[in-house]
Amino acid sequence: MRLSRYFMPILKETPKEAEIVSHRLMLRTGMIRQQSQGIYSWLPLGKRVLDKVNAVIREEQNRAGAIELSMPTLQSADLWQESGRYEDYGKEMLRIRDRQDRPMLYGPTNEEMVTDIFRSYVKSYKSLPLNLYHIQLKFRDEIRPRFGTMRSREFLMKDAYSFDLTQAEAIHSYNKMFVAYLRTFDRLGLRAIPMRADTGPIGGNHSHEFIILADTGESEVFCHKSFVDFDIPPVDTDFDNVEGLQTIFDKWTSVYAATSEMHDEAAFAAIGEGDRLSARGIEVGHIFYFGTKYSEPMGAKVQGPDGKEHPVHMGSYGIGPTRLVPAIIEASHDENGIIWPESIAPFNAVVINMKPGDEACDSTCERLYAALQNAGKDVLYDDTDDRAGTKFATADLIGVPVQVIAGPRAVAAGEVELKDRKTGARETLTIEAAINKLT
Ligand code: ATP
Ligand code: MG
Ligand code: MG
Ligand code: MG
Repeated sequence: MRLSRYFMPILKETPKEAEIVSHRLMLRTGMIRQQSQGIYSWLPLGKRVLDKVNAVIREEQNRAGAIELSMPTLQSADLWQESGRYEDYGKEMLRIRDRQDRPMLYGPTNEEMVTDIFRSYVKSYKSLPLNLYHIQLKFRDEIRPRFGTMRSREFLMKDAYSFDLTQAEAIHSYNKMFVAYLRTFDRLGLRAIPMRADTGPIGGNHSHEFIILADTGESEVFCHKSFVDFDIPPVDTDFDNVEGLQTIFDKWTSVYAATSEMHDEAAFAAIGEGDRLSARGIEVGHIFYFGTKYSEPMGAKVQGPDGKEHPVHMGSYGIGPTRLVPAIIEASHDENGIIWPESIAPFNAVVINMKPGDEACDSTCERLYAALQNAGKDVLYDDTDDRAGTKFATADLIGVPVQVIAGPRAVAAGEVELKDRKTGARETLTIEAAINKLT
């Protein structure tokens, strides 16, 4: 992408309405634009990051055996009347009427709809386990939308739904998502801590919120410090190994971690003083086993090996991609701007032409730009007439991991300079060596 032809509306001033650093940086870099309260456009730079976050989520969902589909944003109220939630959901639900005066709603979640799909097709336990997910917009009329896309009214959610014959099998499905979430957040450069969450009347130990520690987080959290050192399950984890996954779950839930709603002062006090962590956190994911809560009233049943019909045991598993992007910025920035983890950076490298119009600089930059692109890298080429200082500031601000700086003096010697955005380390390499290093 040539910056001179790109659409990246960088703001010079720090927007006053933004209270937290991620919101400020997302507005300043032209990643997002508020269209009305709590409703955002994702401008090209932001869209790139969001797509990469979704790609990581998708890969890990697929690895864990979940299957992607796409359900609509608008739903008929009928389904929600069947489950009993149409009346219960309250003011967060945006209710709409179509021209025939039929009650519709903009989906805040999809349990009812996915249960309806399931019951229409699946009749036998032999089709189980099944886990269906999509990455789709949701709407919740939040009482206090704030912090940009961290808490917006329209937002993206990856929501997965599992179906099993028995509770024991449903727990295995739960563990698959638990492990997939540990891997997903790790690949996004985050240390997310699974914390026991309220399961309501169902009880048990099978609802966890995945929380990232951050001073600007809205939740108050309490946990043992040892989470920082726990190993992330490797890429070749066998998701069909029931005991293997249970062992990982047991390890990750063996020490204390709870949000304020679930906090147990006595259990927390039992932890040695030096190992206690009381902090603020951001909820980036939430997984939930809820048994037959929807399958029973909605008649989602399968025939078991005993020949009888059984309501299926279900779980749901959410991640908020449009919340994750600011959460990652909260965790990874400095006074000059964003520092993207490699896995989701909008561009892998930015080539900075220090003297556009200079034949040697131009041809060197074109060569670098082509070589990196041909190697499948996402490259931003700063070919603008901006001053050097502006170019450096922009490159730092948007947080691309590597800057390739081509100035007239270096280029005359057949060299360019590489700058690592995270460490600030610089090295001078021949053009050839720079291409080799980056491809
Ligand atoms: P919160 O406690 O922050 O209101 P929630 O518990 O209501 O979130 P869930 O129903 O568990 O949210 O939804 C799953 C995930 O969707 C959350 O963990 C979060 O990552 C994301 N999410 C929920 N509400 C919003 C929102 N208003 N804006 C952005 N992301 C959201
Ligand atoms: Mg909420
Ligand atoms: Mg919550
Ligand atoms: Mg939640």
